[in-house]
Parts: sequence; structure tokens; C-alpha cells
Amino acid sequence: MNPLILKIIFTSGIILWLIIRLSYQREQQNNVIVDDRKTPQEKVIRFLVLAGILLFPLIYILFPWLNFANYYLPIWANGLGIVIFASSLWLFWRTHHDLGKNWSPTLQIREGHTLMTDGVYRSIRHPMYTSVLLLCIAQALLLTNWIAGFAGLVCFSIACVTRIDKEEQMLLDQFGDEYEAYRKCTKRLVPYLF
Ligand code: SAH
Repeated sequence: MNPLILKIIFTSGIILWLIIRLSYQREQQNNVIVDDRKTPQEKVIRFLVLAGILLFPLIYILFPWLNFANYYLPIWANGLGIVIFASSLWLFWRTHHDLGKNWSPTLQIREGHTLMTDGVYRSIRHPMYTSVLLLCIAQALLLTNWIAGFAGLVCFSIACVTRIDKEEQMLLDQFGDEYEAYRKCTKRLVPYLF
């Protein structure tokens, strides 16, 4: 598919992704935080993720500097990227909707926090991270460039590895046996598999 069309599709998807995120972020800003485990490392990781998903793609889309690392994909792979991107946007919205007041952009427990085990949280514990991983896979199928295409996948994989254990420990401290039981009957990122 024409790289310009792919760039326009990716940019439109990212704008929708930002609209979903920012609208929920605005809704949550007045909630009282009772446990805050945001560390300086967490800030670096968040910056890394934004660089992988926004900064490198933006450089590739606006300037020719990364063109030496372009690759080619058949049209069916680009089409698959569009389908995966659309699914990731739906899941991203759905996880924000299901978490409701419990959602935080970082590792925090809110006043009146309840454990969500239903909806998209029924079979996996981190569907929001699954949605971002799907977005990163779509990024590699739409932005056909070894740097801009794979930056999201590399940066977000690092974020998942460093964050998930800490997040689960925080929820275990907060919800104890309830979280332990939930952990036993769910997977982390991929239903029934992983
Ligand atoms: N890791 C989850 C949520 C990401 S948002 C996912 O990928 O879907 C991060 C915040 O969500 C954390 O600060 C934590 O307090 C909250 N959280 C994570 N899982 C939760 C659950 N099952 N129920 C309620 N809150 C949860």
C-alpha cells in the first residue's frame, strides 16, 4: 500500500488513541489517591513508551531521516495492521470503560478502589497492556520502517517487563486473597496462553 496512505491511517489511529486516553485522564484527575507507587524509573518508562509510540513515528512521518531503514510489506500485511489497530483501539477504550474510577496512568490505588474481574478483565489481568501491544504490532505493519515501526514494540515490551510485577504486588497488597484467587484463574496478557 502507498506509504503516505499508511502514514495517514496510523496518524488517525493515534489521534483516536490519544482522545480516548485524554478524556479518561481528565475524568480521573480529581480522584483521591491512597497509595502512590510512582517512582522516577516509572517516569522514564512512560517517556520511553511515548517516544516509541509517538516520537519515532512522528519523525518518520514528517521527515525523510529514517528512510534508509524502510522495508516493504505486501498489501495483506498492511490490511492486517489496520484490523489489528482497530481491535486495539476498541480494547483500549473498553479497558478504560471497565476500570472506570479505578484507572490510573501509573501505579496508584484510588479512594474506593475496587478489584475489576469482569468484562475484558475476566480472563486476562492486563488487557490495557494487551491493547497497547496490539497497537505496537499494528505500528510495525503500517509504518514500514525498522526504526519507527518497531520502536513501540521494543519500548513497550521493556515497560511491561518492568511494570507488571510491581503493579501485581501493589494490587496484592491492597486486595490480598481476593487478588490471589483472581491471579490463579487468569493469564497476564493473552487469554488462556500467557
Ligand atoms: N494493568 C491493567 C491496568 C492498567 S491501568 C491493564 O493492563 O488493563 C493501571 C492501574 O489500574 C493501576 O494503577 C491499578 O491500580 C489499576 N488496576 C489494574 N488492574 C486492576 C483491576 N483488575 N482492578 C482494579 N484496578 C486495577
